[in-house]
Amino acid sequence: MKKEEIVQADKDYFMNVFNDRVPIVVDKGEGVRIYDKDGNEYLDFLAGIAVNALGHSHPKVNEAIKEQVDKVIHCTNIYYIEPQAKLNELLVENSAGDKVFYGNSGAEANEGAIKLARKYFKAQNEDRYEVITTTKSFHGRTLATIAATGQKKYQKPFVPLPEGFKSAPYNDLEALKEAVTDKTAAIMVEPIQGEGGINPATQEYLKGIRELCDEEGILLILDEIQTGLGRTGKLFAYEHYGIEPDIFSLAKALGNGVPVSAFLAKEEVADAFTPGDHGSTFGGNPLACAAAYATLSTILEEDLVEYAAEMGDYFQAKLQDLVEKYDVVDSIRGKGLMIGLEVEFDANEIVSEAFEQGLLINAVSDTTLRFVPPLIVEESDIDEAVAILEEIIAES
Ligand SMILES: *Cc1c(COP(=O)(O)O)cnc(C)c1O
Repeated sequence: MKKEEIVQADKDYFMNVFNDRVPIVVDKGEGVRIYDKDGNEYLDFLAGIAVNALGHSHPKVNEAIKEQVDKVIHCTNIYYIEPQAKLNELLVENSAGDKVFYGNSGAEANEGAIKLARKYFKAQNEDRYEVITTTKSFHGRTLATIAATGQKKYQKPFVPLPEGFKSAPYNDLEALKEAVTDKTAAIMVEPIQGEGGINPATQEYLKGIRELCDEEGILLILDEIQTGLGRTGKLFAYEHYGIEPDIFSLAKALGNGVPVSAFLAKEEVADAFTPGDHGSTFGGNPLACAAAYATLSTILEEDLVEYAAEMGDYFQAKLQDLVEKYDVVDSIRGKGLMIGLEVEFDANEIVSEAFEQGLLINAVSDTTLRFVPPLIVEESDIDEAVAILEEIIAES
């Protein structure tokens, strides 16, 4: 198909929910580069929204996928699955979780986490079901996860939403304490808010939430869908804070692009689920687990978490130079390779201009640019991206 035909087919047949699609038809990707149908090359610092942690077409992931395709793509969870068993062990041995369950998207992992929190109290005959989240959070697009998402713009068109959710301002421990009632089952937060603007939790806030949960017998659910698996310079963002969640969710980077998500829990919490409580047709299927196993084992074996921390420092220092040099560049936020740059003009304008110059990024607010390059990004790639940005900023 020609580019014009593809664009027209989208307009004719696809539901109109992405009206800001960037005018590029992606043809292939390799490492930190994407190529369009016309052969143009782009430096990909969005990585499919923090998904392609190992970059595009990583040989180890691609090999694992091809091998699995030739064996078996799918079989039901009624049977035992070797790639799933291997992934279970790898995830549990390297995280705060004792037990895992798989889904196909981030929202679905969060749904499972919320169901588990409710069941945990039901199993003890306690009438606690409420989940407290934070304003500006993002937890997904299903009905329950938009109820959890503390942003009215996602909720309003779809009321009534499932009951049992409320939100309190982020990084405000007192507000959270006031929101707790005898119905509170869980507090659910992102260690660094992603879609809400790259807002890291303060040390006091997350530590304080952990203490509050312990005092009140409330479960702590961490949404590590964007922050997890090395993105922030630790394998899981909670490691920055010296705390452990009772339940946490993963998705974006887990399959390096193959749809797979997971939620993990401490044994005592996970044991609340009994046969029939939860399930999924596709979740944890052989292909998805083979991709996730290859992704996570590569991240671990190639020390990409430490590498991401180093590249994050390098990138942040370069961006800090822009902050110091240009009045219109205000500040940077984030950890590791999850970075937000606060600017004093239309961030979407910069995104468009960067695209014209061959750099793919996006904006998470009118004034915040987001950078989430693959963890395998090199200093020379960062230099190239910063040079493009600086040229745009200098001219505006
Ligand atoms: C992307 C994201 C989700 C939703 O994931 P989907 O796969 O789009 O359902 C949930 N929480 C966070 C923190 C995310 O970044």
